[in-house]
Amino acid sequence: MNTDSGFNSKNDKVIYDITKFTHLDYPNHLAAIFWFSGCNMRCDYCYNKDIVFAKSGNYTFEDALDFLRSRVNLLEGVVLSGGEATLHQLQPFCQAIKALGFLIKLDTNGTNPQMMQKLLEAKLIDYIALDYKAPADKFEQITHSRKYREFSQTLDLLMASDVKFEVRTTLHADLLDEHDINSIIKDLHSRGYEQPYFIQDFRETQNNIGDLKQAKKNFDKSLLLEAKNIIWR
Ligand code: SF4
Repeated sequence: MNTDSGFNSKNDKVIYDITKFTHLDYPNHLAAIFWFSGCNMRCDYCYNKDIVFAKSGNYTFEDALDFLRSRVNLLEGVVLSGGEATLHQLQPFCQAIKALGFLIKLDTNGTNPQMMQKLLEAKLIDYIALDYKAPADKFEQITHSRKYREFSQTLDLLMASDVKFEVRTTLHADLLDEHDINSIIKDLHSRGYEQPYFIQDFRETQNNIGDLKQAKKNFDKSLLLEAKNIIWR
């Protein structure tokens, strides 16, 4: 195994799991997914509980790169997901991935604008999926973190860059109502965001953090503001 890449945490097993193949998670590309251990949020609807609470993972950066070396010309891209990938030292890892010729998609909750700025400046990321968890006044309730300001900074950075990105919200109708989603739509509009805004319905799993069941409240889509770019998943 090559151990000569100079990563700060090269011996740390920061990657919880590797999905070796997906054609769903990186738009229009065949990709692998690296699931990073740990998260700085505790969203009640999160179904990746084991990953979020993991103190470490099962693979080092070098293990992941070894895997990618075996997939050159077979896969086009890599999705960095989690957990929250930006809690880890991503820059040198992304440089090594790019050197192997892969595209990189980052799934993020947007709470590390400093790292995002560095990744954008170095043009290390090709596509970003940014979670817009909730409007400012509900952000802490939904995520159990006080990170709206950081999230907002990240969104500003993405708006000012030329990187391709999407914004997405997980909707559990007992947690977010039509007024909340309209607040997000208005905010995105005021920032000039015109790309697709994905709203994905909560799907009940046995292992979500808040032990949530399907929502009891109805969500009335007809009460949403007119927005051409909303896509329901
Ligand atoms: S859904 Fe929330 S808790 Fe789960 S990985 Fe994403 S940001 Fe972390």
